Amino acid sequence: MKKNKMLIEQLEKDTSCCEKRQLSLYLHIPFCVKKCLYCDFLSFESDQEHINRYVITLIKEIEKKALLFKDYELKTIFFGGGTPSLLNGKQLCQIMDAVKMHFNVPIHCEHTEMEISMEINPGTVTREKLSAYYQAGINRISIGLQSANNQELKLLGRIHTYEDFQKTYQMARSIGFQNVNVDIMSALPNQTLEQYKDTLEKILNLEPEVEHISAYSLILEEGTYFYDHYEYLDEETDRSLYELTKNMLFEKGYYRYEISNYAKTGHECLHNEVYWRRKEYLGLGLGASSFLAEKRFKNTNDLNQYLEEDFSRYEEQELTKQEQMEEFMFLGLRLTKGISLNEFESNFKVSLYDVYGKEIKQLMKEGLLCLDDYHQHLTLSQRGFDLSNYVFRYFLK
Ligand code: SF4
Repeated sequence: MKKNKMLIEQLEKDTSCCEKRQLSLYLHIPFCVKKCLYCDFLSFESDQEHINRYVITLIKEIEKKALLFKDYELKTIFFGGGTPSLLNGKQLCQIMDAVKMHFNVPIHCEHTEMEISMEINPGTVTREKLSAYYQAGINRISIGLQSANNQELKLLGRIHTYEDFQKTYQMARSIGFQNVNVDIMSALPNQTLEQYKDTLEKILNLEPEVEHISAYSLILEEGTYFYDHYEYLDEETDRSLYELTKNMLFEKGYYRYEISNYAKTGHECLHNEVYWRRKEYLGLGLGASSFLAEKRFKNTNDLNQYLEEDFSRYEEQELTKQEQMEEFMFLGLRLTKGISLNEFESNFKVSLYDVYGKEIKQLMKEGLLCLDDYHQHLTLSQRGFDLSNYVFRYFLK
C-alpha cells in the first residue's frame, strides 16, 4: 500500500504542459441481489444500509481524488459492477452531481456528447429508476442478459427471466436510450447449437435493433460453483458456437471491432477502447483499478476498510518497459484496427521490428497477422482472431 503523495508527484510531472489530458472514469458498484453461480467479479449481496453508506463514501472518494486531476478532462464515464442498477435514482444523481462538480466534464454539442455508460441487470429497474438515470446523463446502457433461455438463466443463477429482459429493453427504449448493449454468453454447460442460436435470433430480432452486442464464452473461474461442478464443452461444439456468433452477427450488419465485441457502425464502446488502447483511466470504488502514468493502481477489496474512507490505501504496480510493450501488443491486437507501428515507436522509442521482428515474421508466415497496404498497422487476420490466445503468447516474454 502506498500513499497519495507519490501519485500526486507523478501526475504533476506528467501534466506540465497546458493542454488537458483525457481521463476515463470507472465507478464500481459492488452489490448484487444474488451472486450468480459462475461469477468471480468483486460483487456480493448486501443490505440497504451498506449501499447507502457506500454511496456516501464513493462521493467522498470522488471529491478527494478529483483534486489530483485538475489538468484532466473526462472522456468517458462507466458505472460497472456488481449491479449498478441497484442504486436508486437519487443515489445515481448524487454520484453524477459529484462527478460533474469535481471533475472537468467537457461541454459538448448534442452530436458529440460524452459516453456515460451504466450496467443494468434485468429485474432490478423500474421505469422511474431508468428515467432518473437518463435524466442524470446516462446515455449508454449495457444490459446483462447472458441467455434468452429461461432454463439456462436459472442454471447460471441469474435473478431474471428473458421476459424481464424484454420489459427492461422496451422500457429503456421508450424512455429514450439510443445506445444499448446486450451481454450474451455461450458455451454454457450442455448448451446445444440450437439453444444458442435461439438466443442469438431473439437478440437480433429485437425491435428496435440493439446497437452493440458483447458475446463472450463462459469461463470457469476458480472459486465459483461452476468451477467445482462443470467442465468446459468439447472443443468442436465450442468452435461451432463461436462461428455461429461471428456469422449471424455479421449477416445482421454488426461489425466485429474487438475479439468479443460487435457494434453497428459508430456504436463501439469508447470506454472499453480506453482499456485496450492503454489510455489513462481512474477507477473509484471498492477494488477499482486505475491506469495512470504507466502504473496500475488498485483500491482495497475490503468493504469495511473502504467504508473507513482512508483513500490513501491502494496497491501500486509500476510496469517495466517490457510489460508495457507486451500490454501494447496483446491489448491492441484484440481490436480489429490492430496496432499502429508509429505509435509503438513513439511510445517506446524503438521500432516494433527491433523488439518483435522474429515473432511477427513467424506469425505472418502462419497467416495469423497482417500488415495494411501502407505498412502502418499490424492486425490479426481472420484466422488470427480465431487463434488469438496462441498469437498473444508470442508477445509474452
Ligand atoms: S449480476 Fe453480474 S456481477 Fe452480479 S453476480 Fe451476476 S454476473 Fe456477477
